[in-house]
Amino acid sequence: MTSIMWFRDDLRLADNPALTAAVQDGSPVALYILDEESEGIRPHGAAARWWLHQALAGLRTALAETGIELVLRRGPADQVMAGLVRDVEPTGVYWNRRYGSAERAVDARIKEDLRGCGVHAESFQGSLLHEPWTIQTGQGHHYRVFTPFWNRLREHDFRQPLDAPQCAGHHAGSGREAVSGDELEDWNLVPASARWPDKLARHWTVGEAAALSAVEDFADGPLQDYAEGHDFPGITGTSRLSPYLRWGHISPFQLWHALSSRPGPVSGGAMAYLRQLGWREFCWHLLYHHPQLATRNLRPAFDGFPWRWPDSPGAETPPCLREGSPAPAAEAAATQDPVDAWKSGSTGIPMVDAGMRELWETGWMHNRVRMLVASFLAKNMGVHWQVGEQWFWETLVDADEASNPANWQWVAGSGADASPFFRIFNPNTQARRFDVGGTYVNHWVPDALLPGYPEPVEDVAASRRRALDDYQSIREH
Ligand code: FAD
Repeated sequence: MTSIMWFRDDLRLADNPALTAAVQDGSPVALYILDEESEGIRPHGAAARWWLHQALAGLRTALAETGIELVLRRGPADQVMAGLVRDVEPTGVYWNRRYGSAERAVDARIKEDLRGCGVHAESFQGSLLHEPWTIQTGQGHHYRVFTPFWNRLREHDFRQPLDAPQCAGHHAGSGREAVSGDELEDWNLVPASARWPDKLARHWTVGEAAALSAVEDFADGPLQDYAEGHDFPGITGTSRLSPYLRWGHISPFQLWHALSSRPGPVSGGAMAYLRQLGWREFCWHLLYHHPQLATRNLRPAFDGFPWRWPDSPGAETPPCLREGSPAPAAEAAATQDPVDAWKSGSTGIPMVDAGMRELWETGWMHNRVRMLVASFLAKNMGVHWQVGEQWFWETLVDADEASNPANWQWVAGSGADASPFFRIFNPNTQARRFDVGGTYVNHWVPDALLPGYPEPVEDVAASRRRALDDYQSIREH
């Protein structure tokens, strides 16, 4: 008997409830669909495509070791699924749930189609500690403020993680012919002409084994001082697990139990860390209840806010990410556009430039710095937060459909539990406070004191006053 395990944002073998169910049902065929066509699905950014390529290559190997074949197919998910069902005639199809509205619509359609033709279809909770419809305020609404959400979430018991299924030789012994699929290389997730992704490989080892070893390194090191250390970008004070969580190489259940059940009382570091995992949950809670989080202000009062849009809002993948250009700096120099200066780390504000260069080089940026570069763009430069959100979407290896827009809106002031509008990070003060000794800035902007380093694109104090005036209109609203 054949079953289908449909992998999506859960590219792991351990603690994968859908995979466990598929193995129990029969001899699974594993499927990954590259769906860039179903309505409303947001296409992956460039950094995410690089990560996905490595992740699928690793998953294929790991699955092969347990006797499971990974089939890659591209196209609208419902059509692809119908085709594979015709090919392998499964008893059941299994997947872990997704929570974006377009994805949910696709999944619901497929479930209905499968059941309509007598195939068992079942979905599981694999990526979030909570199901977004299960946690409600006393009045039966969803949460818009983090702390009460977190307090409610923590009341729950979270299931123990599942072991990876042991099913060596399953495929070999099933007598089934190999199922046809695409070659990963043919998907062109990493175009040969793009030089930019090459350097991501210097900073990241992709996959489940790397995720588990990153958890160990973190638990044995930075976790102890996380409560204080997580705010300092010049040290390794955080877990850097965000891309592993994003792609599901590790589940939040695994992390929760790994950190909260370590010997001894739960340390302050572990509590502070688990709270951050709570923010991830909160962002998905928001996305579930506000499907247009990436394109619509959560607080309608901001709809008339005088944010500026650059000439090219950046909806398409910028050429520097597709082709061989070494960095957006060349574009910035050519256009003299402050937004290009922001993207390329040449605003003339060292702490902002350090963050943007870290992002360009590594596909990741420290949270404290994400907050202040976002504040600088949306507040000091007065540029619409969606412009920054889209750039992060293209360049972050952890680009996440919920966390990215939720955090951008939080910084801009238009979001849930938003930072108060009068809170405008001063990047120079932030640098003095959180980059004591200048380790971070010196690393990323060694040219800050050299001739040729750009003049600031904005006067920090004057632009702050202008932003406060603009935000005053919201207060009056
Ligand atoms: P740690 O400090 O080790 O935190 C542990 C985990 O908690 C993270 O891996 C992450 O999954 C979660 N987490 C921590 N802070 C947040 C937060 N504020 N919101 C949601 N989850 C959080 N995070 C993403 O995963 N994807 C994004 O696309 C993303 N975009 C962001 C955009 C902006 C403007 C800002 C201010 C923050 C964004 N974040 C995003 C949140 C946060 O910056 C990253 O999760 C964090 O920096 C990842 O590093 P880490 O794994 O070392 O974090």
